Amino acid sequence: MTLEIISKSNRSVSQLDLYLTCGERYRLRYIDGHNEPPAAWLFQGTEFHGVAEDWELNNRTESAEWMTSEYERRYLSAVENAKREWPELWKWQRAPKQRTEDDIVSRLERGQTQLRAYHDHALSSDWRILRDDRLPRGVGLEVAFELEFNEVILRGFIDQVRVQANGEITADDLKTGAKKPESPVQLAVYAAALREIYGLNVHRGSYYMAKDGKAGKLLNVSHPIEQLEAWFTMLNRGILAGVFLPKPGSHCTMCGMKPWCSYQKPELFFT
Ligand code: SF4
Repeated sequence: MTLEIISKSNRSVSQLDLYLTCGERYRLRYIDGHNEPPAAWLFQGTEFHGVAEDWELNNRTESAEWMTSEYERRYLSAVENAKREWPELWKWQRAPKQRTEDDIVSRLERGQTQLRAYHDHALSSDWRILRDDRLPRGVGLEVAFELEFNEVILRGFIDQVRVQANGEITADDLKTGAKKPESPVQLAVYAAALREIYGLNVHRGSYYMAKDGKAGKLLNVSHPIEQLEAWFTMLNRGILAGVFLPKPGSHCTMCGMKPWCSYQKPELFFT
């Protein structure tokens, strides 16, 4: 099949992740435009990132207590906002065999534990957030990037750009979920963006798993830009060609698209 590329498509690492996890889930979210119900873990992740970023921006001067109380305030406010839009809590995504009310409380406590661990880990480690005028805001936090390829514009934000004790600059991502990413592609994209756009010599990166509270292993992410372009071009062509194969598995248990999934409910296929 020949595809006529009329304009470049906007793509992201999270789109690639979702597409590889399940094509049907990608279709329901990005093509059909269904909104996944809220989940306490989403607020946990967002507010953890926000508080950790502010703490780093403030040069780590605030206490662990400040982090946990700030997190509590932001998290509960996000939950209240979501309740206004989705008042029926039983419709929320949640951990299996758990009531949403209990999930909300447990994610509040988990986020606070994770922030205390991040605080202690950062202060006892010898890496620092990079301060460099080549970066937007001059600091390696939530660094925006845009890589323009032939068919695709790849956009995103890099959680952290760090300087290790030996002066090496690394691309680092904070994860608040339980599962460690199986592939370093996300870090490879970040490293390439830091090299191509900001002229920084970055070839390694890590996933910081907040549940463990310790430095992630530094991975080699020197993937050539051409390789990344090829992968995102394939993603783009699959989407434009309407290739959305369902990929059922254990992840279906936590899938917010299940109510509309034509694999789970074949009668929906023709609707
Ligand atoms: S329920 Fe499973 S097969 Fe259906 S969209 Fe979700 S992940 Fe895919």
